Amino acid sequence: MNIILLGPPGAGKGTQAHRLVEHYGMRQLSTGDMLRAAVKAETPVGLEAKAVMDRGDLVSDEIVTALIDAELTAMGDDVGVIFDGYPRTQAQAEQLDDLLAKHDRELTRVVELGVDEDALVERITGRFTCAECGALYHDTANPPAKDGVCDECGSTEFKRRPDDNEETVRNRMQEYRGKTAPILPHYEARDLVSRVDGMASIEEVSKAIDALLA
Ligand code: AMP
Repeated sequence: MNIILLGPPGAGKGTQAHRLVEHYGMRQLSTGDMLRAAVKAETPVGLEAKAVMDRGDLVSDEIVTALIDAELTAMGDDVGVIFDGYPRTQAQAEQLDDLLAKHDRELTRVVELGVDEDALVERITGRFTCAECGALYHDTANPPAKDGVCDECGSTEFKRRPDDNEETVRNRMQEYRGKTAPILPHYEARDLVSRVDGMASIEEVSKAIDALLA
């Protein structure tokens, strides 16, 4: 299976991708995660991407496609892939078509998570992760069972993304509306798109995605 998770920032792509990894043994390829790792490691790509990401603008198509290509090259052909946060532009959608052909993979489905934008701002500005294991949390919707302690690994260190502030979030949404949503017809023409209500609970969204992939 090769799946694209599409949706504005905060729609729940990362949360659902993590779940698919656990349930189906798929690999999550998140260009956002790869870029954040590059920024942290201060690689040439990271140094170039940092300011762009801080503003909530899009990093160049060439950079993100090269990151995806490298991951697909390094991984076995038998592992299913979830593309999370990629493609985000028409050029990336076309580059991904070429990459899938090159790596002998076929797209199974494009899942679009539909959401209400105002609710998203609250969702995004409240989210944080365990600094140790990466478990995902939210101030109100999904806090750890014991305040300040990670449910998964017991760590007491948490972190928030620097681009999860309201101004940057609004810009990221505008980028989604202007550049990413317009790629849907590219996949609708091949009857690959399914819409899921991303405002439902995490469990309900998971069930709806499972039903699509069954
Ligand atoms: P994300 O974690 O998917 O929300 O991505 C965080 C930031 O990384 C975005 O706001 C962009 O600046 C950059 N980014 C991630 N994926 C892409 C992509 N496919 N194309 C361009 N920029 C990206």
